[in-house]
Amino acid sequence: MGVDVVGLTAWQCRELLSSGQVSAQELTRAYLDRIAAVDGDVKSYLLVDEKGAMAAAAAVDAKPISQRKPWEGVPIGLKDIFAVKGMETTCGSKILKGYIPPYDATIIAKLRDAGLIFLGKLNMDEFAMGSSTENSAFETTRNPWDLDRVPGGSSGGSAACVAASEAPWTLGTDTGGSIRQPASLCGVVGLKPTYGAVSRYGLVAFASSLDQIGPLTRDTRDAAALLDIVAGKDPLDSTSLGLTEPAGTPSRSALEGLRFGVIKEFIGDAIEPGVKEVFDSAVDAISALGAVCEEVSLPGVVRGLAAYYIIAPSEASANLARFDGVRYGHRTAHAEDLYEMYTRTRSEGFGTEVKRRIMIGTYALSAGYYDAYYAQAQRTRTLIINDFARAFEDFDYLISPTSPTVAFKIGERVADPLAMYLSDLCTIPVNLAALPGISIPAGFSAGMPVGLQLIGPHFSEKGLLDASHALEQHLQVPTVPLMKGGER
Ligand code: GLN
Repeated sequence: MGVDVVGLTAWQCRELLSSGQVSAQELTRAYLDRIAAVDGDVKSYLLVDEKGAMAAAAAVDAKPISQRKPWEGVPIGLKDIFAVKGMETTCGSKILKGYIPPYDATIIAKLRDAGLIFLGKLNMDEFAMGSSTENSAFETTRNPWDLDRVPGGSSGGSAACVAASEAPWTLGTDTGGSIRQPASLCGVVGLKPTYGAVSRYGLVAFASSLDQIGPLTRDTRDAAALLDIVAGKDPLDSTSLGLTEPAGTPSRSALEGLRFGVIKEFIGDAIEPGVKEVFDSAVDAISALGAVCEEVSLPGVVRGLAAYYIIAPSEASANLARFDGVRYGHRTAHAEDLYEMYTRTRSEGFGTEVKRRIMIGTYALSAGYYDAYYAQAQRTRTLIINDFARAFEDFDYLISPTSPTVAFKIGERVADPLAMYLSDLCTIPVNLAALPGISIPAGFSAGMPVGLQLIGPHFSEKGLLDASHALEQHLQVPTVPLMKGGER
């Protein structure tokens, strides 16, 4: 009799394994069966490593339970942006199709060391540029709550995978909202740690001053545990610092003594009424738990989107220069000379959105425009950083809706990049200020999940997760969608 993995948290998996109720092979098999049953609809995986996962599980089972590490044998799914030795890593792009990394990213080495079982690689927008996974070169992931809708992006595969119980937890990346926004749209927990908390060695770089790796999970306890496994200073990433204290196991049940600032700029007209309603009830819940909630104005954040769409493409245009057909992945079959080889490889290999970003970034960095665009965006960034610093003199945490809308229909925003960019209105300023932010399920609007974003000062992950846990316990929002017309 197989184990029913629907709705299981990683903590529950750990308990099933450590009590001997299930073997690592039974648990891994159960997830592989679940993937086989639902991923034809959800399309969260780009690659399922059945053989590798079962072999790793067998190695765990060969060890006596008493000699195993705490998380040994718990499966995980990975966004296809991390280098995993021997496992194809495409970053959702044709240009990296067939690229097999010869090394592990630091977080992958840490997961291996902790004994986690890698189920496979998860879909994403090409080079993490997007908010819906529709920019993946390979497939569009579907939202498990409504298969006609997007799961969000760019870590849409990672969020949908957890919502659909195709892994107990996953890792994603967040440059402007790519963990929190899909978590919000799929009704799961997504944490973007403080810039520097997690090493990015072996992460395909998008915008290096903004990128962070973080967990997507069914609850806050799993998010804290996964963060503690992957966080840490790393000599291979000079921007890494680690956490100042581990997140531990969140157990807070009340919020007395805490002050929450409601970001005034993010509760206006841009927020859909159904989302606003859920947000307002979350504010009531925070007050009911004993905290003070007051509005606070951060005037600079309304320019976050504009600054981000100069800074992120500028960094991307530099980072993506390395994909030239020489060292990785795709190389054109038709080139007479070196220059033609570069241009054709890149024209064939990159998708429309990636090309748009490279062109915007190259333009913004070019002589004569640099001051007007890039330098101006950097000054705007400083204003946003200062706004947050001022707000944290008065408040412990800041809150907003994670996304202005619930999950939109597949295809709805493809032709309108600005509408797509607006998805990250409330999440982008958090990256610009290098702060930690989390999205937790707060309720539903017309049957679709709505997330609440909580933002803390730098390296406040422990407190942020504790506060989120208290709220999560109070709200008790269901996280298991009905799929296939009524089945779970
Ligand atoms: N959606 C935003 C973008 O397209 C953010 C992406 C991300 O965080 N990786 O750039």
